[in-house]
Amino acid sequence: MNIELQCCALFIIFTIFVMFSREKKLDLMNRKLFLRAISACFACLIFDILSIIMINKAVNEGVSPALTLFTCKVYIMILVMQGYFGYMYAATSMLPGKETWAKTLKIIFHIIFITGEILVFVMPLKYELDGRIVYTHGLSATAAYFLCAVFIIATIITTIAYRKVIPGRRLTAMLLWQGIWLLAALIQFIVPQILLVGFASAFGMVILYIQLENPSEYIDAATGLFTTNALSVYVFDRYKFGRRFSMFTAKIHYLTAFVEFDMQQDAVTRTSRALIALGPEPAFRIDDDTFCVVYDDKDRMFEMAKNIKRQKDAVNDLPAKGTYLLIPDSMEMSGPDEFFRFLHTYLETEQEITVADKELINRLREQNSIKELIDDALKNDRVEVFYQPFYNVKKSCFNVAEALVRIRRENGEIVPPGLFIPVAEETGQIIPLGMRVFEKVCRFLSSQKAQEYGLEQVEVNVSAAQFDYENPATFVSKYMEEYNIKPEWINLEITETAAARNRDVMLLNMDKLINMGVTFSLDDFGTGRSNLEYFINMPISNIKFDQSFTQGFFDNDKTRYVLTGMADIVHKMNLSVVSEGIETKEQVMMMKEMGVEYIQGFYFSKPIPENNFLEFLIQNNGKKV
Ligand code: C2E
Ligand code: MG
Ligand code: MG
Repeated sequence: MNIELQCCALFIIFTIFVMFSREKKLDLMNRKLFLRAISACFACLIFDILSIIMINKAVNEGVSPALTLFTCKVYIMILVMQGYFGYMYAATSMLPGKETWAKTLKIIFHIIFITGEILVFVMPLKYELDGRIVYTHGLSATAAYFLCAVFIIATIITTIAYRKVIPGRRLTAMLLWQGIWLLAALIQFIVPQILLVGFASAFGMVILYIQLENPSEYIDAATGLFTTNALSVYVFDRYKFGRRFSMFTAKIHYLTAFVEFDMQQDAVTRTSRALIALGPEPAFRIDDDTFCVVYDDKDRMFEMAKNIKRQKDAVNDLPAKGTYLLIPDSMEMSGPDEFFRFLHTYLETEQEITVADKELINRLREQNSIKELIDDALKNDRVEVFYQPFYNVKKSCFNVAEALVRIRRENGEIVPPGLFIPVAEETGQIIPLGMRVFEKVCRFLSSQKAQEYGLEQVEVNVSAAQFDYENPATFVSKYMEEYNIKPEWINLEITETAAARNRDVMLLNMDKLINMGVTFSLDDFGTGRSNLEYFINMPISNIKFDQSFTQGFFDNDKTRYVLTGMADIVHKMNLSVVSEGIETKEQVMMMKEMGVEYIQGFYFSKPIPENNFLEFLIQNNGKKV
């Protein structure tokens, strides 16, 4: 009897089956479909062997030919089912589940499968014994092989059509599985005596199992929790099939600068144990110090989250604390991208408990729409630079201006920097944005039109982030060279926060630029964490008194004393003062009295576009210098 191959295959499938069902499982649609496919493969092999044995008995000993025929029918019907389940497994993971055409296609294949099975059942089938080889033939067998071919070809076409969206490993595994199957079916179709299909399909299952469905990479070796890879597969699966979920996340924050390995291990083990105790629901390790548990509904999540104290207790004798992020309803977010963006953004918060309510999600959306606005503005040249002149008290003219970035929406509306600079700093877009602003300023200065009407210098704002990411000296010198800009035309405004963030890099960059002849101002002095040390040791030539600080000059005596004293100190250090936010004539008079060198404010001019700024210079600085 030619059942050796089938027996081998049965043995292989049985092993995979046992391993697969003993593993820690995630509730994924893919896994359910794989289980269905592998069960069909298992049943198919059993009936394949059974039918071979029965044909032998029927032909040689005349034992129950009707039952033999029935067994053969069941075998080829399961073969068709196996093809159909294989197609469903592949198509469900690749086709966009929510699209109507995909749903229709699914129904069509379902109808083909049902009608096909009925036809296979009613059509005639014969079995044959040829020496020691048995095989079946007849209309029923031909229809079954034809249907199998349809399902395999449909699977291959789907895989090829979606080759760009499926990960490389999945693509290779799918193609190998289908290729082997198709080849075996072809051989068996041409030479029915070679019963290869059963073995080939078992072999295909081995490939799928090892490459795609073996979840060892989904299990974190240190904790036994699911990994971050498993989480992304899980989240994508849930969104794809519209199955809502809730999530509880815990992050360990170490309170010491250096975390000993043993201590970290200890905290991780204890936290993961505390999370596993939060229910039979799957727990994941998202990164070294972040964990989560997912629930089917929010009530259960909130119920379990009440045990937060238990996780706190888990690490309360270590120099560590936890922050918790609760996502009650995954459907509040538009899909996996938004979900992970949310996770990425809010996992870092310092707040102890954060709940992903509508307000927080909307804030994220706004931030994201601003991110897109910046990208769009950069791409379509809608970044503009406005100029705000400074009044030079000694020379009674406007010889310096601050460059202030704006984004113009498609409808012409102007977006102020307060709305997008913080986002740009967070997303890193400040790098290209800052470069664009600087390039525009250089282009403007290179025309020399403004210089003809007395402009001597433009002040450009630089964010702390620009020092963190890249050496700013490179782009500054690049554009200055490209546009033939004299270094004394440029002054860079930095803030104390920028100085505090990465002081050594900052000083290094400043030195390079100062050697080239560029000067620096300390912006927003008097806000937040003013630190005298900064302006004592930083190579700056101007101090800009912030609007809120100068306002105090007019509002209360104490601030007036501090401001006057500060101005005095600054002058003794041979630095000059710019007063920001001056809006009235009285304020101008008082600033003059205090001896500041430059006055910036709406009293003289708001920030204005390039052309209006040129007109302003012509009108206020008079004729060409
Ligand atoms: P800043 O550098 O302190 O700029 C001065 C801000 O004060 C400007 O706001 C200006 O319009 C406003 N201002 C000037 N005079 C008056 C006044 O008399 N009254 C009032 N109420 N406000 C006045 P703007 O243009 O909205 O810029 C806000 C901030 O955005 C800037 O503050 C600066 O930190 C940042 N920024 C602007 N452009 C850039 C840029 O190109 N790069 C970077 N990194 N930051 C920029
Ligand atoms: Mg500024
Ligand atoms: Mg300022």
